[in-house]
Amino acid sequence: MNNTILIVEDEPKLASLLADYLRQAGFDTHHIADGLKVEAWVREHAPALLLLDLMLPGKDGLAIARDLRRFTEVPVIMVTAKVEEIDRLLGLELGADDYVCKPFSPREVVARVKTVLRRLNAPQAQPIADGVVLDPLRFRVSAGENSIELTAVEFHLMETLHGEPGRIYSRDQLMDRIYPDNRIVSDRTIDSHIKKLRRKLEGLLPGEELVHSVYGAGYKYEPPV
Ligand code: CA
Repeated sequence: MNNTILIVEDEPKLASLLADYLRQAGFDTHHIADGLKVEAWVREHAPALLLLDLMLPGKDGLAIARDLRRFTEVPVIMVTAKVEEIDRLLGLELGADDYVCKPFSPREVVARVKTVLRRLNAPQAQPIADGVVLDPLRFRVSAGENSIELTAVEFHLMETLHGEPGRIYSRDQLMDRIYPDNRIVSDRTIDSHIKKLRRKLEGLLPGEELVHSVYGAGYKYEPPV
């Protein structure tokens, strides 16, 4: 899955600050400062989402958003320097998925990005074909004849790890996934949920280790062999 956030922003410091925070949150980023270069890049690379500044050299954010909509549904978060602008932008029905006002906290922007992506991706989430089936309505995981019931937190951890087999998630990334409201929880909280999850998974496929801890890095899911 493409995980790249395209940052269209002509203030280099702001762009690199956003890029830092987004990368910490597990995204790849690309930065474009010139409004005229956006469309070609989007056509070629199909990013997961755009953070689109309104005032840009070359071509402004409004014109870019309008032209993008002719060929792509890529989610767009518009960034504007004026709160008053937002009302006007909403009236234009640009098909932007959210609006952020400068000055913003990078944390807030990352949370918005995640929310937009989660909202868009939720219905299409495809289980991987490894025989381990997740039921998000019941927080239940099954494999063949066996099934186990998880708590909400355990299920979201499982869902995240299982969604990208082999990918190592840091504790911070997992915390972001299960506590999107930026609640402060300690690393130990994640460890203790993972511990309970692993214990339950033993009842699903005895003898198989599905959730692995990676020393000094975090956790990953490996399909059963
Ligand atoms: Ca600008």
